[in-house]
Amino acid sequence: MSNDAISWIRFSHVLLPLATPISDAKVLTGRQKPMTEVSFLFTEIETRDGHQGIGFSYSKRAGGYGQFAHAKEIAPAILGEDPNDTGKLWQKLVWAGASVGRSGLSTQAIAAVDVGLWDLKAKRAGLPLAKLLGAHRDSVQCYNTSGGFLHTPIEEVKENATRSLENGIKGVKIKVGQPDMRIDLQRVEAVRKHLGDDVPLMIDANQQWDRATALRFGRVMEQYNLVWIEEPLDAYDVEGHAALAAALDTPIATGEMLASVGEHMELIKHRSADIIQPDAPRIGGITQFLKLATLADAAGLQLAPHFAMEIHLHLAAAYPAEPWVEHFDWLEPLFNERLETRDGRMVVPDRPGLGITLTEQARKWTVDSAEFGKRG
Ligand SMILES: [Mg+2]
Repeated sequence: MSNDAISWIRFSHVLLPLATPISDAKVLTGRQKPMTEVSFLFTEIETRDGHQGIGFSYSKRAGGYGQFAHAKEIAPAILGEDPNDTGKLWQKLVWAGASVGRSGLSTQAIAAVDVGLWDLKAKRAGLPLAKLLGAHRDSVQCYNTSGGFLHTPIEEVKENATRSLENGIKGVKIKVGQPDMRIDLQRVEAVRKHLGDDVPLMIDANQQWDRATALRFGRVMEQYNLVWIEEPLDAYDVEGHAALAAALDTPIATGEMLASVGEHMELIKHRSADIIQPDAPRIGGITQFLKLATLADAAGLQLAPHFAMEIHLHLAAAYPAEPWVEHFDWLEPLFNERLETRDGRMVVPDRPGLGITLTEQARKWTVDSAEFGKRG
């Protein structure tokens, strides 16, 4: 019988600079500026019995300061609580901030705590998180995204793809969704030709097509044997995605922008996607991701979680149907550990918990922090 208690929590707001400003279709259609940094909310937790956990949430462009502020307001609600009670603690945190809702920025602040509690639970069990959850596999097929953005000239995209394959990554995703569809088409053709027919290839339009454009482009794409077309339409157009998924042989993937399990349930209900792409930090953490994974599995969907491979590798390893995990090297400067990719797959580390510790550099990029309770 455990009666441990959460005795200390520290939040750190970390701004990770990106080596090159990043552009996807949202930049080329004028909706967003190129991305130059990613904001992280790290949570470190300690208990009276000396157990520790680390979790994180993140935001791109705006939102990081708000996540940090919200986390500070709600954290006192769980000091002194048993860290094992992850379900109860998620509810306590959501009720502490209920006035600002159960999705988006508020649940993303909760996610940083929730992920930390699951890391702690797995560490205490002496197991990698995937094993604690009940793994189906000890590695997950993976694909590269960071090499195929729209700011990258096509020759460089091809070089990046080759390097990914040499580094043991199985698939390659490239961005599309530019105002001029012909340029997208040329880039897809060039990469498919470069890779040959056997390498798994995905494309991602980042929500920048209307329904007619998505159908027209999707029909042209059938010949390229894509693993999926990602975010062809606005993230909340569940009916449009459903019609597209029914019309095309190529699978449709979406869900990364959705900010709660409730929003994902609309996708599942409308059969809007063949492949669901939840993001644990965006939907409220691991407690919420597990609920969604059960619903997605029951609906017969495939899973390809978005971003944050350090968390999603474990969650994908515990999903029944063979999933994909997205390889992004952007977060590597934050962590002392590296995830191994071999023979097309990302290997679940055998370190307990998530298997991550923060680098000194991450501490230096910390712009604000706040502590609650007392340490050891
Ligand atoms: Mg995407």
